[in-house]
Amino acid sequence: MTLRAVKGMNDILPDEVGRWQHLESVLRRRIELHGYAEIRTPVLESTELFVRSLGETTEVVEKQMFILERSGESLALRPEGTAPVVRAFVSHSLHAKAPIHKLYYLGPMFRAEQPQRGRYRQFHQAGCELVGDPGPGCDAEMIDMLVGMLRELGIENFKVLVNSLGGAGTRARFRDALAAHLAPRKAELSEHSQKRLLDNPLRILDSKDPRDQKAIADAPSILDLLEPDDLAHWDGLRRALDALGTPYEVDAKLVRGLDYYTRTLFEIQGAGGELGTQNALLGGGRYDGMIQDLGGPSMPAIGFAMGLERILLAMHEQRPAARSTCFVAPIGERASYEALRVGRELREHGIVAEVDTRGGKLKNLIRRADSLGARLCVVIGDTELDRGIVLLKDLMAHSQEEVARGDIAGRALALLQTTPVKAEGSA
Ligand code: AMP
Repeated sequence: MTLRAVKGMNDILPDEVGRWQHLESVLRRRIELHGYAEIRTPVLESTELFVRSLGETTEVVEKQMFILERSGESLALRPEGTAPVVRAFVSHSLHAKAPIHKLYYLGPMFRAEQPQRGRYRQFHQAGCELVGDPGPGCDAEMIDMLVGMLRELGIENFKVLVNSLGGAGTRARFRDALAAHLAPRKAELSEHSQKRLLDNPLRILDSKDPRDQKAIADAPSILDLLEPDDLAHWDGLRRALDALGTPYEVDAKLVRGLDYYTRTLFEIQGAGGELGTQNALLGGGRYDGMIQDLGGPSMPAIGFAMGLERILLAMHEQRPAARSTCFVAPIGERASYEALRVGRELREHGIVAEVDTRGGKLKNLIRRADSLGARLCVVIGDTELDRGIVLLKDLMAHSQEEVARGDIAGRALALLQTTPVKAEGSA
Protein backbone atom coordinates (compact mmCIF):
# COMPACT_ATOMS: atom_id res chain seq x y z
CA MET A 1 0.00 0.00 0.00
CA THR A 2 1.36 3.43 -0.88
CA LEU A 3 1.53 5.81 2.03
CA ARG A 4 -0.31 9.06 1.65
CA ALA A 5 -0.13 12.36 3.48
CA VAL A 6 -2.62 12.74 6.32
CA LYS A 7 -6.12 13.85 5.26
CA GLY A 8 -6.32 17.60 4.81
CA MET A 9 -2.55 18.07 5.05
CA ASN A 10 -0.67 18.99 1.89
CA ASP A 11 2.83 18.66 0.58
CA ILE A 12 4.13 21.83 -0.99
CA LEU A 13 6.26 20.68 -3.90
CA PRO A 14 9.32 22.50 -5.24
CA ASP A 15 7.48 23.97 -8.23
CA GLU A 16 4.92 25.61 -5.89
CA VAL A 17 7.41 26.81 -3.31
CA GLY A 18 8.40 29.86 -5.39
CA ARG A 19 4.89 31.33 -5.00
CA TRP A 20 4.96 30.69 -1.25
CA GLN A 21 8.34 32.34 -0.91
CA HIS A 22 7.21 35.36 -2.91
CA LEU A 23 4.09 35.71 -0.75
CA GLU A 24 6.04 35.30 2.48
CA SER A 25 8.63 37.87 1.46
CA VAL A 26 5.98 40.48 0.53
CA LEU A 27 4.21 39.89 3.85
CA ARG A 28 7.37 40.05 5.93
CA ARG A 29 8.55 43.22 4.23
CA ARG A 30 5.22 45.02 4.60
CA ILE A 31 4.79 43.89 8.20
CA GLU A 32 8.33 44.87 9.13
CA LEU A 33 7.85 48.30 7.52
CA HIS A 34 5.24 48.80 10.25
CA GLY A 35 7.76 47.91 12.95
CA TYR A 36 6.58 44.38 13.82
CA ALA A 37 9.19 41.86 14.97
CA GLU A 38 8.82 38.14 14.39
CA ILE A 39 8.05 35.77 17.25
CA ARG A 40 8.20 31.97 16.91
CA THR A 41 6.30 29.81 19.36
CA PRO A 42 5.97 25.99 19.55
CA VAL A 43 3.30 24.24 17.51
CA LEU A 44 2.21 22.33 20.63
CA GLU A 45 0.65 24.11 23.57
CA SER A 46 -1.36 22.96 26.56
CA THR A 47 -4.96 22.30 25.52
CA GLU A 48 -6.09 24.52 28.37
CA LEU A 49 -4.54 27.59 26.72
CA PHE A 50 -6.99 27.38 23.83
CA VAL A 51 -9.97 26.39 25.97
CA ARG A 52 -9.40 29.42 28.19
CA SER A 53 -8.68 31.95 25.47
CA LEU A 54 -10.90 30.92 22.54
CA GLY A 55 -13.83 29.88 24.74
CA GLU A 56 -15.24 26.47 25.55
CA THR A 57 -18.25 26.79 23.28
CA THR A 58 -16.42 27.84 20.13
CA GLU A 59 -16.37 25.59 17.09
CA VAL A 60 -12.58 25.31 17.15
CA VAL A 61 -12.40 24.20 20.77
CA GLU A 62 -15.46 21.99 20.67
CA LYS A 63 -14.67 20.07 17.52
CA GLN A 64 -11.48 20.95 15.73
CA MET A 65 -8.46 20.57 17.94
CA PHE A 66 -5.88 17.85 17.37
CA ILE A 67 -5.20 16.78 20.94
CA LEU A 68 -2.60 14.36 22.20
CA GLU A 69 -2.03 13.06 25.68
CA ARG A 70 1.50 12.68 26.97
CA SER A 71 2.44 11.76 30.55
CA GLY A 72 -0.99 12.74 31.79
CA GLU A 73 -0.78 16.16 30.10
CA SER A 74 -3.21 17.23 27.40
CA LEU A 75 -1.49 19.02 24.51
CA ALA A 76 -3.00 20.55 21.39
CA LEU A 77 -1.53 21.34 18.00
CA ARG A 78 -2.11 25.08 17.81
CA PRO A 79 -5.32 25.89 15.94
CA GLU A 80 -4.46 29.60 15.80
CA GLY A 81 -1.61 31.95 16.62
CA THR A 82 -2.89 34.65 18.96
CA ALA A 83 -3.25 32.62 22.16
CA PRO A 84 0.31 31.18 21.88
CA VAL A 85 1.76 34.66 21.26
CA VAL A 86 -0.09 36.04 24.28
CA ARG A 87 1.04 33.04 26.35
CA ALA A 88 4.66 33.76 25.37
CA PHE A 89 4.15 37.49 25.99
CA VAL A 90 2.92 36.80 29.52
CA SER A 91 5.38 34.03 30.40
CA HIS A 92 8.38 36.18 29.38
CA SER A 93 6.92 39.32 31.03
CA LEU A 94 7.44 41.23 27.79
CA HIS A 95 5.05 43.92 29.06
CA ALA A 96 7.75 45.08 31.50
CA LYS A 97 10.11 45.93 28.62
CA ALA A 98 8.09 48.51 26.67
CA PRO A 99 4.61 50.03 26.62
CA ILE A 100 3.86 48.97 23.02
CA HIS A 101 4.68 45.64 21.42
CA LYS A 102 4.35 44.71 17.77
CA LEU A 103 4.77 40.99 17.13
CA TYR A 104 4.16 38.86 14.06
CA TYR A 105 4.22 35.15 13.29
CA LEU A 106 4.06 32.95 10.27
CA GLY A 107 3.59 29.20 10.36
CA PRO A 108 1.35 26.13 10.26
CA MET A 109 -1.91 25.84 12.22
CA PHE A 110 -4.04 22.73 12.68
CA ARG A 111 -7.81 22.26 12.73
CA ALA A 112 -9.72 19.01 12.21
CA GLU A 113 -12.18 20.49 9.72
CA GLN A 114 -13.78 18.78 6.74
CA PRO A 115 -11.23 19.52 3.99
CA GLN A 116 -12.35 21.35 0.86
CA ARG A 117 -10.94 24.02 -1.44
CA GLY A 118 -9.46 26.70 0.81
CA ARG A 119 -10.03 24.63 3.97
CA TYR A 120 -7.38 22.24 5.21
CA ARG A 121 -6.39 20.47 8.40
CA GLN A 122 -2.90 21.87 8.29
CA PHE A 123 -2.85 25.40 6.89
CA HIS A 124 -0.58 28.40 7.24
CA GLN A 125 -1.27 31.73 8.80
CA ALA A 126 0.61 34.98 8.98
CA GLY A 127 -0.56 37.24 11.76
CA CYS A 128 0.29 40.37 13.72
CA GLU A 129 -0.43 41.25 17.32
CA LEU A 130 -0.19 44.85 18.49
CA VAL A 131 -0.20 45.11 22.28
CA GLY A 132 -0.51 48.28 24.35
CA ASP A 133 -2.43 50.67 22.10
CA PRO A 134 -6.16 50.87 22.82
CA GLY A 135 -6.95 52.22 19.32
CA PRO A 136 -8.89 53.05 17.29
CA GLY A 137 -6.18 54.77 15.16
CA CYS A 138 -3.95 51.69 15.21
CA ASP A 139 -6.95 49.49 14.37
CA ALA A 140 -7.52 51.51 11.20
CA GLU A 141 -3.82 51.43 10.40
CA MET A 142 -3.77 47.62 10.67
CA ILE A 143 -6.73 47.28 8.33
CA ASP A 144 -5.12 49.74 5.90
CA MET A 145 -1.84 47.79 6.00
CA LEU A 146 -3.76 44.65 5.02
CA VAL A 147 -5.52 46.36 2.14
CA GLY A 148 -2.13 47.58 0.89
CA MET A 149 -0.67 44.08 1.16
CA LEU A 150 -3.47 42.47 -0.81
CA ARG A 151 -3.12 45.08 -3.54
CA GLU A 152 0.62 44.53 -3.72
CA LEU A 153 -0.06 40.82 -4.15
CA GLY A 154 -2.31 41.61 -7.10
CA ILE A 155 -5.59 40.88 -5.27
CA GLU A 156 -8.00 43.71 -6.11
CA ASN A 157 -11.32 42.00 -5.73
CA PHE A 158 -12.14 41.94 -2.02
CA LYS A 159 -14.50 43.33 0.60
CA VAL A 160 -13.43 44.75 3.94
CA LEU A 161 -16.08 44.16 6.61
CA VAL A 162 -15.92 45.92 9.97
CA ASN A 163 -17.98 45.75 13.11
CA SER A 164 -17.71 46.48 16.81
CA LEU A 165 -18.46 43.99 19.54
CA GLY A 166 -18.07 46.57 22.28
CA GLY A 167 -16.79 45.72 25.73
CA ALA A 168 -18.24 43.48 28.42
CA GLY A 169 -21.19 45.81 29.17
CA THR A 170 -22.25 46.11 25.54
CA ARG A 171 -21.84 42.37 25.03
CA ALA A 172 -24.07 41.57 28.00
CA ARG A 173 -26.77 43.95 26.72
CA PHE A 174 -26.56 42.51 23.25
CA ARG A 175 -26.61 38.92 24.49
CA ASP A 176 -29.82 39.63 26.38
CA ALA A 177 -31.40 41.43 23.42
CA LEU A 178 -30.44 38.64 21.04
CA ALA A 179 -31.66 35.92 23.40
CA ALA A 180 -34.95 37.80 23.82
CA HIS A 181 -35.31 38.05 20.03
CA LEU A 182 -34.52 34.38 19.45
CA ALA A 183 -36.36 32.80 22.41
CA PRO A 184 -39.79 32.90 20.73
CA ARG A 185 -38.18 31.50 17.56
CA LYS A 186 -36.32 28.71 19.35
CA ALA A 187 -38.19 25.91 17.61
CA GLU A 188 -37.21 27.31 14.18
CA LEU A 189 -33.49 27.23 14.98
CA SER A 190 -31.10 24.40 14.08
CA GLU A 191 -30.52 21.88 16.89
CA HIS A 192 -27.02 23.23 17.39
CA SER A 193 -28.23 26.82 17.73
CA GLN A 194 -31.00 25.79 20.14
CA LYS A 195 -28.22 24.68 22.49
CA ARG A 196 -26.21 27.87 21.80
CA LEU A 197 -29.21 29.98 22.76
CA LEU A 198 -28.56 29.03 26.38
CA ASP A 199 -24.78 29.18 26.60
CA ASN A 200 -23.55 31.49 23.82
CA PRO A 201 -26.27 33.13 21.67
CA LEU A 202 -23.71 35.30 19.78
CA ARG A 203 -22.43 32.15 18.10
CA ILE A 204 -25.78 31.81 16.33
CA LEU A 205 -24.85 34.87 14.24
CA ASP A 206 -22.01 32.78 12.76
CA SER A 207 -24.30 29.96 11.67
CA LYS A 208 -24.69 29.28 7.95
CA ASP A 209 -27.78 27.12 8.52
CA PRO A 210 -30.70 28.67 6.56
CA ARG A 211 -33.06 28.16 9.53
CA ASP A 212 -30.74 30.21 11.77
CA GLN A 213 -30.16 32.80 9.06
CA LYS A 214 -33.88 33.36 8.81
CA ALA A 215 -34.27 33.73 12.57
CA ILE A 216 -31.46 36.27 12.85
CA ALA A 217 -32.42 38.28 9.75
CA ASP A 218 -34.19 40.99 11.75
CA ALA A 219 -32.29 40.50 15.02
CA PRO A 220 -31.22 43.62 16.94
CA SER A 221 -27.95 45.20 15.85
CA ILE A 222 -25.08 45.33 18.31
CA LEU A 223 -24.18 48.74 16.88
CA ASP A 224 -27.43 50.15 18.27
CA LEU A 225 -26.53 48.91 21.74
CA LEU A 226 -22.93 50.16 22.07
CA GLU A 227 -22.18 51.79 25.43
CA PRO A 228 -20.82 55.38 25.18
CA ASP A 229 -17.08 54.49 25.32
CA ASP A 230 -17.56 51.69 22.81
CA LEU A 231 -19.53 54.00 20.55
CA ALA A 232 -16.77 56.64 20.68
CA HIS A 233 -14.23 53.93 19.75
CA TRP A 234 -16.38 52.70 16.87
CA ASP A 235 -16.88 56.24 15.52
CA GLY A 236 -13.13 56.83 15.86
CA LEU A 237 -12.37 53.70 13.84
CA ARG A 238 -14.58 54.79 10.98
CA ARG A 239 -13.23 58.33 11.01
CA ALA A 240 -9.64 57.01 10.82
CA LEU A 241 -10.52 54.61 8.00
CA ASP A 242 -12.20 57.45 6.13
CA ALA A 243 -9.15 59.67 6.65
CA LEU A 244 -6.93 56.93 5.19
CA GLY A 245 -9.31 56.35 2.31
CA THR A 246 -9.45 52.65 3.22
CA PRO A 247 -12.48 50.96 1.66
CA TYR A 248 -14.82 49.19 4.12
CA GLU A 249 -18.39 48.09 4.69
CA VAL A 250 -20.13 47.90 8.05
CA ASP A 251 -21.48 44.43 8.86
CA ALA A 252 -23.26 44.40 12.21
CA LYS A 253 -23.65 40.60 12.04
CA LEU A 254 -19.93 39.91 11.85
CA VAL A 255 -18.92 38.07 15.06
CA ARG A 256 -16.11 35.75 13.88
CA GLY A 257 -16.08 32.48 15.78
CA LEU A 258 -13.84 33.13 18.75
CA ASP A 259 -14.98 34.44 22.12
CA TYR A 260 -12.03 36.66 22.88
CA TYR A 261 -12.86 39.60 20.63
CA THR A 262 -13.82 43.03 21.99
CA ARG A 263 -14.68 46.25 20.13
CA THR A 264 -13.10 46.38 16.63
CA LEU A 265 -13.68 43.32 14.51
CA PHE A 266 -12.87 42.92 10.82
CA GLU A 267 -12.70 40.41 8.03
CA ILE A 268 -11.51 40.70 4.45
CA GLN A 269 -13.33 38.45 2.02
CA GLY A 270 -12.24 37.54 -1.48
CA ALA A 271 -14.90 38.58 -3.98
CA GLY A 272 -13.32 37.18 -7.14
CA GLY A 273 -14.99 33.77 -6.89
CA GLU A 274 -11.67 31.83 -6.70
CA LEU A 275 -12.38 30.76 -3.14
CA GLY A 276 -15.88 29.36 -3.34
CA THR A 277 -17.53 29.25 0.07
CA GLN A 278 -14.24 29.64 1.95
CA ASN A 279 -13.93 33.29 1.02
CA ALA A 280 -12.49 34.75 4.24
CA LEU A 281 -8.95 35.75 3.32
CA LEU A 282 -8.17 37.06 6.76
CA GLY A 283 -9.80 38.20 9.93
CA GLY A 284 -8.97 39.92 13.13
CA GLY A 285 -10.00 42.14 15.93
CA ARG A 286 -9.35 43.53 19.34
CA TYR A 287 -8.93 41.29 22.36
CA ASP A 288 -8.55 43.76 25.19
CA GLY A 289 -9.19 41.19 27.92
CA MET A 290 -7.09 38.22 26.88
CA ILE A 291 -3.70 39.21 28.29
CA GLN A 292 -5.18 39.65 31.74
CA ASP A 293 -7.25 36.48 31.43
CA LEU A 294 -4.06 34.54 30.75
CA GLY A 295 -2.35 35.89 33.85
CA GLY A 296 -0.72 39.08 32.52
CA PRO A 297 -1.45 42.75 33.22
CA SER A 298 -4.50 44.48 31.79
CA MET A 299 -3.34 45.58 28.34
CA PRO A 300 -5.32 46.30 25.20
CA ALA A 301 -4.40 44.41 22.04
CA ILE A 302 -5.45 43.87 18.45
CA GLY A 303 -4.42 41.29 15.88
CA PHE A 304 -5.26 39.56 12.63
CA ALA A 305 -4.56 36.22 10.99
CA MET A 306 -4.39 35.67 7.27
CA GLY A 307 -4.65 32.24 5.63
CA LEU A 308 -1.80 31.84 3.17
CA GLU A 309 -3.43 29.04 1.15
CA ARG A 310 -6.44 31.27 0.51
CA ILE A 311 -4.28 34.24 -0.43
CA LEU A 312 -2.45 32.04 -2.95
CA LEU A 313 -5.78 30.90 -4.40
CA ALA A 314 -6.88 34.52 -4.81
CA MET A 315 -3.59 35.67 -6.31
CA HIS A 316 -3.31 35.63 -10.04
CA GLU A 317 -0.79 33.29 -11.55
CA GLN A 318 2.44 35.14 -11.81
CA ARG A 319 4.62 35.17 -14.84
CA PRO A 320 7.34 32.60 -14.28
CA ALA A 321 10.47 34.16 -12.82
CA ALA A 322 13.02 35.26 -15.41
CA ARG A 323 15.51 32.52 -16.17
CA SER A 324 18.63 33.33 -14.22
CA THR A 325 20.61 30.13 -13.72
CA CYS A 326 24.07 29.72 -15.17
CA PHE A 327 24.87 26.14 -16.19
CA VAL A 328 28.54 25.15 -16.25
CA ALA A 329 29.36 22.44 -18.79
CA PRO A 330 32.87 20.99 -18.69
CA ILE A 331 34.05 18.68 -21.47
CA GLY A 332 36.67 16.26 -20.18
CA GLU A 333 38.10 15.55 -16.77
CA ARG A 334 40.62 18.38 -16.69
CA ALA A 335 37.89 20.91 -17.43
CA SER A 336 35.61 19.48 -14.75
CA TYR A 337 37.86 20.79 -11.94
CA GLU A 338 37.92 24.20 -13.55
CA ALA A 339 34.12 24.01 -13.82
CA LEU A 340 33.79 23.39 -10.07
CA ARG A 341 35.92 26.49 -9.45
CA VAL A 342 33.88 28.54 -11.93
CA GLY A 343 30.64 27.40 -10.23
CA ARG A 344 31.93 28.51 -6.85
CA GLU A 345 33.00 31.86 -8.24
CA LEU A 346 29.64 32.50 -9.89
CA ARG A 347 27.79 31.75 -6.65
CA GLU A 348 30.11 34.09 -4.78
CA HIS A 349 28.79 36.77 -7.14
CA GLY A 350 25.19 35.85 -6.32
CA ILE A 351 24.51 33.87 -9.50
CA VAL A 352 22.63 30.57 -9.26
CA ALA A 353 25.07 28.07 -10.77
CA GLU A 354 24.61 24.42 -11.70
CA VAL A 355 27.80 22.52 -12.45
CA ASP A 356 27.34 19.25 -14.30
CA THR A 357 30.45 17.12 -14.10
CA ARG A 358 28.81 13.97 -15.43
CA GLY A 359 30.53 14.57 -18.76
CA GLY A 360 29.15 13.69 -22.17
CA LYS A 361 28.75 15.42 -25.51
CA LEU A 362 28.24 19.19 -25.70
CA LYS A 363 24.81 18.71 -27.30
CA ASN A 364 23.62 16.66 -24.34
CA LEU A 365 25.04 19.13 -21.85
CA ILE A 366 23.19 21.99 -23.54
CA ARG A 367 20.02 19.92 -23.49
CA ARG A 368 20.41 19.43 -19.73
CA ALA A 369 20.98 23.18 -19.29
CA ASP A 370 17.78 23.89 -21.23
CA SER A 371 15.73 21.41 -19.26
CA LEU A 372 16.87 23.11 -16.05
CA GLY A 373 15.65 26.41 -17.44
CA ALA A 374 19.15 27.90 -17.41
CA ARG A 375 19.67 31.24 -19.15
CA LEU A 376 23.45 30.97 -19.54
CA CYS A 377 25.84 28.12 -20.18
CA VAL A 378 29.59 28.24 -19.63
CA VAL A 379 31.37 25.69 -21.81
CA ILE A 380 34.91 24.68 -20.90
CA GLY A 381 36.96 22.17 -22.90
CA ASP A 382 40.70 21.52 -23.18
CA THR A 383 41.13 24.19 -25.88
CA GLU A 384 39.44 26.83 -23.74
CA LEU A 385 41.53 25.77 -20.74
CA ASP A 386 44.74 26.16 -22.71
CA ARG A 387 43.69 29.58 -23.99
CA GLY A 388 42.54 30.83 -20.55
CA ILE A 389 39.00 31.48 -21.79
CA VAL A 390 35.52 29.96 -21.64
CA LEU A 391 32.62 29.96 -24.09
CA LEU A 392 29.67 31.81 -22.62
CA LYS A 393 26.38 30.94 -24.30
CA ASP A 394 23.15 32.89 -23.82
CA LEU A 395 20.65 30.08 -24.30
CA MET A 396 17.70 32.42 -24.70
CA ALA A 397 19.34 34.88 -27.08
CA HIS A 398 20.98 31.98 -28.97
CA SER A 399 24.28 33.80 -28.94
CA GLN A 400 27.74 33.00 -27.65
CA GLU A 401 31.01 34.74 -26.97
CA GLU A 402 34.50 33.95 -25.76
CA VAL A 403 35.17 35.40 -22.33
CA ALA A 404 38.51 35.61 -20.53
CA ARG A 405 38.60 33.30 -17.51
CA GLY A 406 38.87 36.22 -15.10
CA ASP A 407 35.84 38.03 -16.57
CA ILE A 408 33.24 35.25 -16.40
CA ALA A 409 31.28 36.40 -13.35
CA GLY A 410 31.19 40.03 -14.46
CA ARG A 411 30.06 39.17 -17.99
CA ALA A 412 27.46 36.66 -16.74
CA LEU A 413 26.03 39.25 -14.36
CA ALA A 414 25.83 41.80 -17.17
CA LEU A 415 24.02 39.34 -19.46
CA LEU A 416 21.56 38.32 -16.74
CA GLN A 417 20.54 41.95 -16.40
CA THR A 418 19.58 42.19 -20.06
CA THR A 419 16.44 40.92 -21.75
CA PRO A 420 17.49 38.25 -24.21
CA VAL A 421 17.29 39.28 -27.84
CA LYS A 422 17.70 36.51 -30.38
CA ALA A 423 20.90 36.87 -32.40
CA GLU A 424 20.39 37.26 -36.15
CA GLY A 425 20.31 34.05 -38.09
CA SER A 426 19.86 31.92 -34.96
CA ALA A 427 17.21 29.22 -34.77
P1 AMP B 1 -9.53 32.42 12.03
O1 AMP B 1 -8.35 32.11 12.90
O2 AMP B 1 -10.58 31.37 12.05
O3 AMP B 1 -10.03 33.79 12.26
O4 AMP B 1 -9.00 32.39 10.55
C1 AMP B 1 -8.19 33.40 10.00
C2 AMP B 1 -7.87 33.03 8.56
O5 AMP B 1 -7.17 31.80 8.53
C3 AMP B 1 -9.10 32.76 7.71
O6 AMP B 1 -9.58 33.95 7.16
C4 AMP B 1 -8.54 31.85 6.64
O7 AMP B 1 -7.88 32.60 5.65
C5 AMP B 1 -7.51 31.04 7.40
N1 AMP B 1 -8.07 29.74 7.82
C6 AMP B 1 -8.77 29.43 8.92
N2 AMP B 1 -9.06 28.13 8.96
C7 AMP B 1 -8.54 27.58 7.84
C8 AMP B 1 -8.48 26.26 7.30
N3 AMP B 1 -9.02 25.22 7.93
N4 AMP B 1 -7.85 26.07 6.12
C9 AMP B 1 -7.27 27.11 5.47
N5 AMP B 1 -7.28 28.37 5.93
C10 AMP B 1 -7.90 28.61 7.10
